[in-house]
Amino acid sequence: MPAQRLVLASANPDKVAELRLLLNGVVEVMPRPTDLAEVVENEETLEGNARLKAAAVCRATDCAAIADDTGLFVDALGGRPGVRSARFAGDDATYADNLAKLLEELASTPPERRSARFQTVVMVKYPDGRELTATGTVEGHIAESPTGGGGFGYDPVFVPVEGDGRSFAEMGDDKHRFSHRGRALRAIVPMLDITPAESAG
Ligand code: IMP
Repeated sequence: MPAQRLVLASANPDKVAELRLLLNGVVEVMPRPTDLAEVVENEETLEGNARLKAAAVCRATDCAAIADDTGLFVDALGGRPGVRSARFAGDDATYADNLAKLLEELASTPPERRSARFQTVVMVKYPDGRELTATGTVEGHIAESPTGGGGFGYDPVFVPVEGDGRSFAEMGDDKHRFSHRGRALRAIVPMLDITPAESAG
């Protein structure tokens, strides 16, 4: 049985499902307490927002907590939506709203200029103040229309350069061979104070 317990700081069920999959057999993961207020993610960087979330949950539970903050950085949009990826189309935007806005903003951008990357910062906060962090990045391009029924968020239009032309939403769990989140977690696992039962991903 893995020795270390981490409370998941994310309130996003899609991210929680991926974090559980990627940490399976490595650490014991505990759900975020349901009565905890949502953290306002008002920092200007992924690292700042990951820290806000991990610190809030660590403080509330007095347990080590793990948070992930992710952005999609599109070159033709000067790096937008970036740190505002969840709220690209407005504060209460759905995944569909954000995706529609992205495709609309890129409508006149040709395929060779649709390069983009996902970046995830993972942060672990311990009650004694220690902090661990790691980053994962995947390069890709934004397709002209969505494909695939899996994944979440911008997955139906994100095609990783290392893949075979499928969008992340068409890949199932293969997504994590390349994904920003898979890479960030595989980077942070060796820093955890455990002997992993198996490696992440
Ligand atoms: P946050 O890290 O919760 O701020 O997430 C930012 C937003 O990026 C999410 O609401 C999703 O729309 C998007 N996002 C995060 N991770 C992924 C992913 O793995 N695939 C596709 N979209 C993602």
